[in-house]
Amino acid sequence: MVENKKNKKVYKKGFNLIETYPVKFSETIVFVKHNGQVDSFNFAFPDKKVEHIIVNLCPTEPWALPNLAILRNRTHDFLNKLETVRAEYFPDSHCHVVVSHQETTLVNELNQYKASANSPPTFANGEYLHLHTMEPVYPYDAPVLIVKNILGLDIAFGQNTTEQGILLLDPQNVIGIFEYYIKKNEFNTRLIPISGTGLKDNKILKVKPGTPVKRMLELYVRTDIKYRVFLDGLLNGTEVKDLTQKIDWSTKNIVVIEERDYKTLFPYTRVNELLFTTSLMGELRRCVYCNFCDDICPVNLEPALYWHCYIRGEKQKARTYALEKCIECGLCSFICPSKLELLHVIKECKLASFGR
Ligand code: SF4
Ligand code: SF4
Repeated sequence: MVENKKNKKVYKKGFNLIETYPVKFSETIVFVKHNGQVDSFNFAFPDKKVEHIIVNLCPTEPWALPNLAILRNRTHDFLNKLETVRAEYFPDSHCHVVVSHQETTLVNELNQYKASANSPPTFANGEYLHLHTMEPVYPYDAPVLIVKNILGLDIAFGQNTTEQGILLLDPQNVIGIFEYYIKKNEFNTRLIPISGTGLKDNKILKVKPGTPVKRMLELYVRTDIKYRVFLDGLLNGTEVKDLTQKIDWSTKNIVVIEERDYKTLFPYTRVNELLFTTSLMGELRRCVYCNFCDDICPVNLEPALYWHCYIRGEKQKARTYALEKCIECGLCSFICPSKLELLHVIKECKLASFGR
């Protein structure tokens, strides 16, 4: 985000969602009981040699799991586990830990760990542990962008990074691999943050994968409203149509949004509000060529072009505008004052152009 001449905020190449829509979670982590079938922990170790591990401790979405829940004020302990996992399974790899430049305490802790006498040995050709700071701007932690920014390498959207020797390791999986495979301890729970206007309170839940979404939400959803439930974020996550759906080891978060079935007058004039809404009541408009979508796209695309191809019935023509570079972050849909479903259209155009 940058400031223009009149000191008005404009959004360029990404969006600081955390600053704009801060979400506060209760500090207490709540265990959700579930007596039904659960999925056991299983980590798919890559076949190819891993040269770089990237551990992202810089979430860019407000509904993401806060670092505090993972580190629990024991950063040193987490880093020891990370090093044990690295040394055991990926011994020749460099380890890159990415943190927000705003989290100065965490940055200091990481630097202290690197400098401490107890820290693990270095490689002959330099240190194995690398600390990177990043602005917590969405979607800078998307695989394409984080790999480019940390390692300077280009990967294609959707590509399995392990083919290039890069392992993007979820911090919760660091703990899982350590406990389950190295220490042979039981490891059957995952931390899942739940948040949104459809809840009485934003919580961090400790859940056994295999637990239905309904079971997780039943104590916390507001009963006075209609709501919609999304897995893994509002911008590019998926809506849960059936609340008996179970969460799995890849589930990151749940967002519950109040269903608003009323019309907002002149929504395109309210560019400063940018409210998340589920309303589709009569607000669909034409592209007004405002270029907001061009400005916000983190990979320099012109999303309105895909819209125009689509409405002209020329989905395949969209590929002439670097369609394959789209990382499906959903920011263009989010910012569009005409509420055009750009991400949906982009996916349709990709399907018509590339069959996927
Ligand atoms: S969804 Fe694609 S086109 Fe839209 S802002 Fe994100 S990267 Fe750009
Ligand atoms: S943000 Fe929406 S209205 Fe503005 S140029 Fe893009 S598609 Fe058109």
